Amino acid sequence: MTTALFNHPVSLLHDTGIHHPESPRRIEETLKALSDADFDGLDRREAPVVDNAKLLWAHTEEHVARVFDAIPDTGYVAIDGDTVICKDSDEAALRAAGGICAAVDAVIIGEVDNAFCLSRPPGHHAERDRAMGFCLFCNPAIGAYQARNTHGLKKVAVIDFDVHHGNGTQDVFWNDPDMFYASTHESPLFPGTGSEGEIGVAGNIMNCPLPSGAGSFEFRKAMEDKIFPAVQDFEPELIIVSAGFDAHREDPLASLNLEDEDFGWVSKRIVELSQDLCRGRLVSVLEGGYNTDALARSVALHVKALMNAAE
Ligand SMILES: [Zn+2]
Repeated sequence: MTTALFNHPVSLLHDTGIHHPESPRRIEETLKALSDADFDGLDRREAPVVDNAKLLWAHTEEHVARVFDAIPDTGYVAIDGDTVICKDSDEAALRAAGGICAAVDAVIIGEVDNAFCLSRPPGHHAERDRAMGFCLFCNPAIGAYQARNTHGLKKVAVIDFDVHHGNGTQDVFWNDPDMFYASTHESPLFPGTGSEGEIGVAGNIMNCPLPSGAGSFEFRKAMEDKIFPAVQDFEPELIIVSAGFDAHREDPLASLNLEDEDFGWVSKRIVELSQDLCRGRLVSVLEGGYNTDALARSVALHVKALMNAAE
């Protein structure tokens, strides 16, 4: 039994332009860190292309059509203020969504204990009917619906520790009482959503905004006092992690002050939670993290925690 790592080389071909923070270097540097002998035990798998029909579990037909129609033959197109695509972005996005579906399959079937999806573009800002914030399709929500629609699981929880609120995942889950979304994020900050009052149709959304400058203490307290007990009460059969690493103190896009060790800590605690609640069923997917050194170090600690669970 082991930890799977899902990736595909096309994740490096999703080109957002020379000055864009969501760059292929994020994957390159992380893969370098994961080439260390400590990670020889990973079950490395190629992320497949998702069936287009699965995109409609989380998105409108119009949204999906708009993304594909916007793909240019050459150069770049901005489909919102921050979200830039090129000719390979459709395949990268289809393999990001396909990777998490394959990871969910592998974990639920029991081929592996847990899995990390090292993919671009990220997903948690993509709403039911619009791309935004570097995201085209809502990978964590599509993964959750893979568990329900393909494997018959009833309840899935997504824990999101990216520094930005996952407005997309919240939007997709809002009216679905069997899907739980819990997030720590800096506020005020892009995308502006994620107040404590946003609780979904059945209390199935939990937002824990943290003020600019908050660090380890506030982050760990929000996780221990609010998010972990809420996930426990929800009793999910699978936990999906929206693993963003931009709450790191070295990140250029935000102002929380987490250290490398905080990502190791939260990963270990979520692994323990999955072992208590759902036989260790845990699938994690990359969201943000824009200082590539800090990202690579933090992902290494995250994956290490997943592998330690699998030993
Ligand atoms: Zn982010």
